[in-house]
Amino acid sequence: CHNSVLTGPIETTLCDYETIESVNDELYSNLSDLVHLPFFRYFQVDLYRECPFWLDNGSCNNPGCAITSVDESDVPEKWRAKALSEVDPSSIDKRHSLPGCYYRDSDFCFLDDNTEGDYFDLRLVPERYTGYSGKDAHRVWRSIYEENCFGLSELNLMTGKSSAPVSLPDTMIEVLHEDGQESDPHCLEKRVYYKVISGLHASISTHICHEYLNQTTGQWQPNLNCFISRVASHPERLQYIYFDTILLLRAVARLGPYLSAFDYCSSGNHEDDAETLSTLTKVIDIAKQAGSFDETILFRGENANVLKEEFKTHFRNVSRIMDCVGCDKCRLWGKVQTTGIATALKILFELDEKALDPHTNSDLLHRSEVVALMNTLFRFSESLSAVEDFRTMWRELDASV
Ligand code: FAD
Repeated sequence: CHNSVLTGPIETTLCDYETIESVNDELYSNLSDLVHLPFFRYFQVDLYRECPFWLDNGSCNNPGCAITSVDESDVPEKWRAKALSEVDPSSIDKRHSLPGCYYRDSDFCFLDDNTEGDYFDLRLVPERYTGYSGKDAHRVWRSIYEENCFGLSELNLMTGKSSAPVSLPDTMIEVLHEDGQESDPHCLEKRVYYKVISGLHASISTHICHEYLNQTTGQWQPNLNCFISRVASHPERLQYIYFDTILLLRAVARLGPYLSAFDYCSSGNHEDDAETLSTLTKVIDIAKQAGSFDETILFRGENANVLKEEFKTHFRNVSRIMDCVGCDKCRLWGKVQTTGIATALKILFELDEKALDPHTNSDLLHRSEVVALMNTLFRFSESLSAVEDFRTMWRELDASV
């Protein structure tokens, strides 16, 4: 591993980051193929539930926010609402239900109960600039940070004392060790939680800046200034995109045998089904190489179980806050990604090897969780690929002055 020392506000010098960077082209290319296949492109969700936390979520009337669902007759019969509602209720483990959604004790998010949701073709709704912004968007982010981040914010997380900028640690392992220091006023788990959220926010911002609408020319193009101001000038935000990617990869690596045994034979097309499995196998192999997150060092202390319940409650709240996002397209991707991250957290912190065994526990995950997990990993891999584009733009700009 060679530390690459590059200049400018969007550069990193990190070993473990290099591992991710060295596999990301391959990861991106395989995930890109995977999420175009029928099993992974259709996501079912109830996108129009009421916001449970405040009355007016400031619906975005911008055309960029609008999306259309696909007709249920276009998706394989096995996934349609009628077939799903015929699932034997005794096969469903204990749930805590609210109208239209529920969670099980092991879940880190609310899941739809599949009775009212529509299907969306994720490939038709790229995550990009939509124009959703201002006080409504800020209220959602503020609520996620202030009410559901254990009281942590960028300021007190970075130093615990002052707002002085900090440099990037040299490896991901070092990030975790640094987190575990006794003198740290915030425990490791709470800091991990914050990084997960901040990394998601930074990844969404990266997509927005990479596919930005130039209002003057009407062209979609990368906006380097947008990326510098929202992400790169806060190196820790960039760092957390890598952090989330490593976490998701580790979850996919652990889930490998389960994913390999999952039933993808529902699209009715044998070629698609075979391709789904072979592409997924390549992604799992990359995840085994690069998913260096060590979940065993979390939730070990005296109050581990209490803390884990708190962690789950907060993340479940975040999944419900997605109903308050006033832009349909942003809400769809918000729901996909909170479900994807919640699935990864469940795999890492709730399920032991026995639970992950596909032979003893074949109903462990719903299709929507598997679809969300892989699409979320794709979002992050795509963000890292966008970061490379921005680095190239930065170097070109630097060379020209
Ligand atoms: P925001 O991104 O709104 O950030 C608000 C404040 O949070 C900042 O001022 C800063 O103090 C802090 N902050 C920013 N980034 C971080 C970070 N990574 N870590 C910690 N703190 C941070 N807009 C689109 O155009 N397309 C989308 O697909 C889209 N999806 C969204 C999905 C969700 C779930 C939400 C809540 C919003 C989404 N938005 C989307 C809106 C978008 O995220 C921004 O809110 C909007 O572009 C306004 O950006 P901003 O620069 O004002 O700061």
